[in-house]
Amino acid sequence: MAQINENFLRLEKNYLFINIAKKLNAFKEAHPDADIIKMGIGDVTQPIAKCVVEAMKKGADEMGVKETFRGYEDSGAGYDFLREAVSGYYKSFGVDIPADDIRINDGAKSDCGNIVDIFGDDNIVLVTDPAYPVYVDTNVMSGRKVIYADSNEENGFAAMPDENVKCDLIYLCSPNNPTGSVYTKEQLKVWIDYAKKNNAVIIYDSAYEAFITEDNIPRSIFAVEGAKECAIEMCSLSKTAGFTGMRCGYTVVPHELMAKASDGTEVSLAQLWGRREGSKFNGVSYPVQCAAAAVFTPEGQEQIKENIRYYQHNAKVISAAFDEIGIKYTGGKNSPYIWFKCPDGMGSWEFFDFLLENANVVGTPGEGFGKNGEGWFRLTAFGDRDRTVEAMERIKKLLAK
Ligand code: PLP
Repeated sequence: MAQINENFLRLEKNYLFINIAKKLNAFKEAHPDADIIKMGIGDVTQPIAKCVVEAMKKGADEMGVKETFRGYEDSGAGYDFLREAVSGYYKSFGVDIPADDIRINDGAKSDCGNIVDIFGDDNIVLVTDPAYPVYVDTNVMSGRKVIYADSNEENGFAAMPDENVKCDLIYLCSPNNPTGSVYTKEQLKVWIDYAKKNNAVIIYDSAYEAFITEDNIPRSIFAVEGAKECAIEMCSLSKTAGFTGMRCGYTVVPHELMAKASDGTEVSLAQLWGRREGSKFNGVSYPVQCAAAAVFTPEGQEQIKENIRYYQHNAKVISAAFDEIGIKYTGGKNSPYIWFKCPDGMGSWEFFDFLLENANVVGTPGEGFGKNGEGWFRLTAFGDRDRTVEAMERIKKLLAK
């Protein structure tokens, strides 16, 4: 008899987006004329940059010609032209990552989950709470013990390590989803020192690095001394260049990163990761890799930044409205997310209903991201500009005391 992986039964039921959809549908049925504005989505809305689309078309055309057709990519790690381009991108903000340490993937979500294949099931995993749900789910699925570091109002939603807590794997995300908070270099150095002291590995999700506006906020954990001996980084073109429907990202496992086997032998994690990928992953499609490479050209950078500026402007509209009515928040400055406390002590879901009923605006209840999200709420800057302005006018009217 086939036995199931019983760990799946331990997963929290993911009610968040199902509940939102249910409540929204019920509201629409009761108020068919309501002009609803969605500020809850974490997906991008602007079309992909022209030169990126052109590069993808060219790649697709090459596949239809005998001389330029390509089948499997030999290494599965990504074409050299793209890995070099990513390496050059890191260099542009002062981080030296050789192309050999980079592997191209179909998005950061996959690798945030896949990476745990190279770690033992007895590892204790530390996740900051609230968090992007993949970090917890993927480790629960493989039966690992998950513990939490609280991100809360007191620490500006940037949890720091507790020296008395021991762990082996640490998930960090900056700029953070859902809170929009960021770690400074000094804060990351504390995490790096803590990881080294515990022989732990940091899994660093930098999916929103392109939204960083402040020069002193690192775009990569590898901008901080010592990270290459204790960290792995995942990044994605999803939010940077609108690739949520194209699927392309990259993972950096530095060649310096070593871990010990139970007999004390030093093992390269990059080698283990390469071995895992060689067995389970056959790479990203050629046209998508061509498109991704175009993102890193000067023309591509200029064009994708136009979209990022569009979202950043929306983030400013949201933050400015909250500043005006005196609602405190994190995010917005270096992130497309704005995270705030529900007014008058309302719970996250209570405020969701209140906002929908009284402003016809949909957001995301914070408790869907962990216990510290209870009583908090997320709005995103990925919407249409005029609709964002309209939504914030309604919210101002509703919440101004
Ligand atoms: N990491 C974080 C923090 C995210 O919020 C998301 C998507 O919302 C991802 C990773 C997933 O990115 P991808 O589309 O590359 O899988």
